[in-house]
Amino acid sequence: MLFADVLVSQQIKQLLINTVNHQRVSHAQLFLGQTGTHTLGLAIAYTQYISCQNRTETDSCGVCRSCLKYKNLAHPDLHFFFPNALTTKVKKDNESASFYNEWREIVTETNALFSLDDWYAKLEIENKQTYINKNDISRILEYQATKPYESEYKVFIIWMAEKIYAPMGHKLLKILEEPDGKTLFILISENSGQILPTILSRLQLVKINKFNTKDYTDIISQKLDYTPEEALEIASITDNNLIDAFHVDRRKVMEKENFNRFISMMRSAYRICYFTNDPKKINFHEIAVLIKELASLGRENQKSFLRYALTLVRKCILTNCGASELVKSSAEEAEWLVKFFPFINKENGDKVVNAINEAIRNIEQNAHAGILFTDLILLLGQLIQYGDKRLHK
Ligand SMILES: [Zn+2]
Repeated sequence: MLFADVLVSQQIKQLLINTVNHQRVSHAQLFLGQTGTHTLGLAIAYTQYISCQNRTETDSCGVCRSCLKYKNLAHPDLHFFFPNALTTKVKKDNESASFYNEWREIVTETNALFSLDDWYAKLEIENKQTYINKNDISRILEYQATKPYESEYKVFIIWMAEKIYAPMGHKLLKILEEPDGKTLFILISENSGQILPTILSRLQLVKINKFNTKDYTDIISQKLDYTPEEALEIASITDNNLIDAFHVDRRKVMEKENFNRFISMMRSAYRICYFTNDPKKINFHEIAVLIKELASLGRENQKSFLRYALTLVRKCILTNCGASELVKSSAEEAEWLVKFFPFINKENGDKVVNAINEAIRNIEQNAHAGILFTDLILLLGQLIQYGDKRLHK
């Protein structure tokens, strides 16, 4: 990762760059920043800069052999340690290395901006009793005793250092007390009060402060491509937590995708049932594309789509009941609701809700997604006809 991609103040970046250019790199440092700070990204950018074979005064080159290995998180002198536990996949002898594929994925997907809860979700850990454990500390001792392969330093990035298993702390302390000049430790923490005091006293502190509101809003506007007004709204609900801001963004993108899928599903259902005598008006290609897309989403996203569909159906029902003041919608949804709400009403509303709930239950029981969504579209078509007041006059 380049410094240019790290979302912290220029001042902190410059401070770290200076330590390299003035050969004052401290062998054990603590990067401290509250949840939602880009500390992990900063640690990767910093150690990549140290290892880069062609660095400039402001950043890594990004293209040398070392940078390319850093980009893939596959440099032989770069070691990550992070909280882990037994999981359904790793049933014994767990250590950070057991989860390196998942680690590489989450760091790459999020540009190293994710929370401990995101990490637990990735590992499907539920009870949250996680540690940087005995096996991890043994692994650090083992690597520490070897020479660097390619770089000047062996680098150990320890993410969430407050999770170091306390009874093993003294072993780590011993290495921190006796630097060999070839090892660089970057510990990352959100709460230095939970780090063993003896370890804390051996670390040089690099504190990463919150952005001020203006800088934070600018980042949201630039990185997530929002207008200044939208960025200000996201900034106000995420309180200087970049991870939350990115979550809000992903949710918004997902809602938009789900809205488009829902429109396509209802349009398909409508056409199938109203144009049975005139198949030219049925766009079978659109239906096939939609069903393939829905089938490929994965179970969690399929359920989230259907839950979103339920909220829109409820909005139709509320509007039909004369309670439209209770309906909060985006401009796009509101435009659609005006056209569509007459089709979901007291005649068929409960049946539509039941059909969608039934689909959610079937997904949970591993139903074949292609068949399930085909059936659902056909059923919705019948239900729309059933609720069409023009047909019952
Ligand atoms: Zn480079």
